[in-house]
Amino acid sequence: MFDLLIKDAEIFDGSGAQPVHGDVGVSGGKIAAVGGKLGAAKATVKAEGLALAPGIIDGHTHYDAQITWDPFVDPSPALGVTTAILGNCGFTIAPCRPADRDLTLRHLTHVEGMSLDALRAGVRWEFESFPQYLDMLTRLGVGPNVACFSGHSSVRTWVMGEEATQRVATDEEVVKMAALVREAMAAGAVGFASSTAEAHNGEGGLPMPSRLADDRELRALVNAMGESRAGVYMLTRGAKTSIPYLEELAAEIKRPVVIAALFHSNTNPTAAFTTLDQVNAARGRGHQLVAQTSCCPLSMDFTFKSPYLFESMKSWKAAMAAHGEAELKAVYRDPAWRAAVKQELAAARGRLVFNGEWDKLFVVEVAKPENQAMEGATLAALAKEAGKDPLDFILDFALSENLDTAFVAQLLHNDEKAVAKILADPNTHISLSDAGAHLTFFCDAGFGLHLMGHWSRDLGVLDLAQAVHRLTGQPATLFGIRNRGLVREGYAADLMLFDPRTVARGPKRRAHDLPSGAARLTTSAVGLHGVWINGTRVADQKGFCVDPKARPGEVLRNFMS
Ligand SMILES: [Zn+2]
Repeated sequence: MFDLLIKDAEIFDGSGAQPVHGDVGVSGGKIAAVGGKLGAAKATVKAEGLALAPGIIDGHTHYDAQITWDPFVDPSPALGVTTAILGNCGFTIAPCRPADRDLTLRHLTHVEGMSLDALRAGVRWEFESFPQYLDMLTRLGVGPNVACFSGHSSVRTWVMGEEATQRVATDEEVVKMAALVREAMAAGAVGFASSTAEAHNGEGGLPMPSRLADDRELRALVNAMGESRAGVYMLTRGAKTSIPYLEELAAEIKRPVVIAALFHSNTNPTAAFTTLDQVNAARGRGHQLVAQTSCCPLSMDFTFKSPYLFESMKSWKAAMAAHGEAELKAVYRDPAWRAAVKQELAAARGRLVFNGEWDKLFVVEVAKPENQAMEGATLAALAKEAGKDPLDFILDFALSENLDTAFVAQLLHNDEKAVAKILADPNTHISLSDAGAHLTFFCDAGFGLHLMGHWSRDLGVLDLAQAVHRLTGQPATLFGIRNRGLVREGYAADLMLFDPRTVARGPKRRAHDLPSGAARLTTSAVGLHGVWINGTRVADQKGFCVDPKARPGEVLRNFMS
C-alpha cells in the first residue's frame, strides 16, 4: 500500500518528454511507481484534468538570512518551488565571525532590499563557519530542500574584515580565502558564487566585497572550488568579467560557469543576443557556460528614500553616501549633482539598471491627496507637461512629497519578442527569481508558474513539457542534484499538481510580516492544486497547508560531478 496515490494525472516527468496519463504512487517520501492504474493507498488525490510535474528548482534565491527565522521561505514552496539554491551572487551569511555580524547584515540590507531592523531581529547566529551553517540548517530543519553556495563576499569579509570593501587582497589573504572555499566544498556547498556587478552595493554605497577582487583572487577561488570536481561557479557579471574571460575560467576548472543576469534592454537591444551568441559559441567549444535569465519583466517599486534602480550609476554615489534624510535631500537638490546624473543617463545605453526610459517609469501612489491625479501617469508625460527635464521633475516632485511618493519602473526584459527568443534557447537557465532579496522592490518567486502559464500556454513560446523541463530536470542536471527533478521511480517525491488551463502567478501585494514588522512584496499562486516535498504536502489550492512545525526538506550536500 502506498502512502499517497495521485490518480489520473497528466504526468510531465521533467525530462522534456510528452506527458503520459496515469497514477503516481508515493511511499516513504519517494516516488514508488509511475503510470497506469496503481493500487491502494492511505491517501488519494484525484487529479483528473490536472498536470503532475516535479517540483520547481529555483536556481537563484537569496534566502540565506530568511531561512534562519522562516524555514519555509515564504512564499516559494506555495508557488511550486521544492528546492531552492541559496547564496547566489556570493551574498551569504556564512562564514561570519561574531565581530562581523552587523557588518555582514549592513552589506545585505541594501542588496536584499530588507530593512536592517528585520535582519538584526531575525537572523539566528548559531554558526561561524560555513560547515556550521549547513549543520545549523540540518539541525533546525528546512521546509523545502536547499543547496547553498560558498559566497565570495562572506569569505572575503572573514579574511579581511572591514577592508574587504576597500582594497585588493594580499597573496596571503587569497590563500586563506581559497582554504575557506575548499572547506565549504568539502562540507557540501553546491559551488562558489560571486558578483562583479556594479549594481551590487552595500550600506552607504560601499561596493559588495567581491567587487574588489582582482583576477588573481577570482582565479584562485574558482580553482579551489573546481578541485572538488563537483559544483558550479556562479557569478553576476559586471563590466570587468567578459564572456571570453569566463570561458577561460570554465576551461581551466572544467566545471559549469553560470552567468547572471541575462536581461534584454530596450536601450541596447542587441547586447543580450551578443552575450548569448558568445555563450553558445563557448559551449560549442566544449566549455560549460550557462546564461542565467528570467521569464519575468524586471520592474521595481521604489521611493527616493532607497531608489535601488539608480544605484548602479557612478554619479549616484554621493546620494548613497548621504547620512540621514536631510543630507540625502540636499544631494537631490544639488544642481551640479543632477547634471552629472543626467550626463551618465544620456550615455547609459543599456549598461545600467535604469537607462533613462522615463516613459516606463510610473507614479504608483502619491503622498499628498492633491496630487492624486498623477497616479498612473508616466514621468515622461508629466515632465513634458511641466516643461521640465524628467530627472529634475521626478526629484522636485519626490522632494515636495517628503520622498514618500511610490514609483514603479519597468526596467528590463519587457520586449516580449526579444525575451521569447532568449527563453526559447534550450540552453539558457531560466531562474533569477531573486526570491528572498529586493523584498520591497519586486517578487518574482512565482516565476515558474509564470513560465508555464504566460510563456507556454498563452504565448506558445515553448510547449508545456519543455517549460516543465526547464524548471526541473534541466536545473537538477546543471547543479548535479541527485534523484530529484524527474518523476521517476526511486526519485524524491518533490511534486507539483496544477491546472494547465489556469496556472499563473497572482498579483503582487504588500505584506508587513518580516521580523520587526517590516514590509515586503509577495504573491500567491493561481491554478496550483498541490505541492509535495519529499512526500509531505506543503500547499494546496489555497496556499500553504503544512503543519508549521513540519520540516520536510533536506539540506543537500552531495552533488554529482
Ligand atoms: Zn542575486
